[in-house]
Amino acid sequence: MVEITFLKAGYCTHPEVMVLPGGSWKPMVFPALLALICHPVGWILFDTGYSERFYQETQSLPNKLYAVLTPVYLQPQDSAVAQLEQLGIAPEDIKYIIISHFHADHIGGLKDFPQAKFICFESGYNAIKNKRGFQALKAGFLSGLMPDNFEKRVVFVENHHTLKLPENFQPFEWGFDLFGDGSLIAIELPGHAVGQMGLYLTDNRGKQYFLIADACWLNRAYQELIYPQRIADILFADKTAYRETLKKINQLYRNNPDVKIIPSHNSIDLTEIGQ
Ligand SMILES: [Zn+2]
Repeated sequence: MVEITFLKAGYCTHPEVMVLPGGSWKPMVFPALLALICHPVGWILFDTGYSERFYQETQSLPNKLYAVLTPVYLQPQDSAVAQLEQLGIAPEDIKYIIISHFHADHIGGLKDFPQAKFICFESGYNAIKNKRGFQALKAGFLSGLMPDNFEKRVVFVENHHTLKLPENFQPFEWGFDLFGDGSLIAIELPGHAVGQMGLYLTDNRGKQYFLIADACWLNRAYQELIYPQRIADILFADKTAYRETLKKINQLYRNNPDVKIIPSHNSIDLTEIGQ
């Protein structure tokens, strides 16, 4: 039994021009999506969205710049942990958190789930683990959001079975089968951040989802292959890899309409993805 539910934990705003060529400077809303996955191993999260800790961690410089550049909006009841309690899921019930990458809008809630093991690419973790101060800020990383015992609890994806992806997942060829049952497959999506992870999920009804994190911000970007403005390049770890990854997602979209592709920050209409 594999089921997926999408939640939004806070949002930030960016000028439209950052994501759409010819866009205006008016702010656009970018919700921070996370996914709750019901799986035979237990409850799993894909990312956590923001938490109120973001505000504490951005009180003083240099981190304050993060909050100024991406104003964040979150009510206490919007955090992942609060929404899960509403659904009757206790923090201790979360067994795993799959971390797409280490930006604050994805790891904001890690500290709220004391029993969870973390799953990420080692390359992604290595790229940020020693960064502090301005270097960390440049990588969108707030070290105060990381649990102290992170290294004891992390499982690196590179150690899982590699899996040749089905033909209809071209041009993506390889993934990592996280639980050995083929239901959750990690796929590397480099560019936005080093070692960014996408998740290809098949639920018990046979519905397929590809959670692509921040490989792009809007559905239109992968559907119409719209590259972001050059001004946004400063936000990416590798702008060439970003474009290559987006092109591959666009090809997958055109080859295989059965896969529901979900970026983390598109203003999604939940009914559109069957929720
Ligand atoms: Zn993000």
